[in-house]
Amino acid sequence: MKSLDKEHLRGNLDKIIWNIEQARITVSEHHIVQLVAIGKYTEVENIATLYELGQRAFGENQVQQLKDRMQTLEELPLQWHMIGSLQKNKINNLIDLHPVLMQSLDSLDLAIELNKKLLAKESKMNCLLQINAANESSKSGFSSDESYDMYQRINETCPNINLKGIMTIGAHSEDTSLIQKSFESTYTIYEKLQKEGASICSMGMSADYELAIKCGSNLVRIGSLLFK
Ligand SMILES: *Cc1c(COP(=O)(O)O)cnc(C)c1O
Repeated sequence: MKSLDKEHLRGNLDKIIWNIEQARITVSEHHIVQLVAIGKYTEVENIATLYELGQRAFGENQVQQLKDRMQTLEELPLQWHMIGSLQKNKINNLIDLHPVLMQSLDSLDLAIELNKKLLAKESKMNCLLQINAANESSKSGFSSDESYDMYQRINETCPNINLKGIMTIGAHSEDTSLIQKSFESTYTIYEKLQKEGASICSMGMSADYELAIKCGSNLVRIGSLLFK
């Protein structure tokens, strides 16, 4: 890993923002998409540089890394997202970090445990339900079939969790039509959940963010393309 030149990072960021713009206007003039920069493959210096270029939202997939970086960059007004599997023994650490959004609520067990610990700390957390849309054994998350019911159930039984929407990782495939299918089925669930207050549909990474936006995503999580 290395520190990247500011002009180099500006080029990467501009290109991605341009592509997001092209994709979002195919959906609607009014369709807004948030870019969350995923820093897990890069050095903390590059996150600071991206901040200078105007980026505010960043994500990490490990609690410890999130904590280190929040501390290192605490002077900067950044919004931090947690995007990785949360181990039960890290829940208290995450609560103390107050991430703006925890995107990877991937089981009912975790929701119950998280709610319990939030309650004890008199705290709340904004979360997304993670959906394993392509039913891949390598990925965690709720199956498409159970997602709607689980969303309602967590809403009703976990008052310290504020569910804001859903997150998915596109199907791991070379076949674009399979990836598209996983985004479309996730979006269908999101549409139903809008009546339950869902407002965030987090889909799309470096390899598939334009496709995800065309399928309705309003939050993309981009790492390797941004910091290459
Ligand atoms: C690593 C990661 C990303 C970013 O992946 P890239 O392909 O590098 O853009 C997005 N979402 C999640 C959940 C991740 O773990």
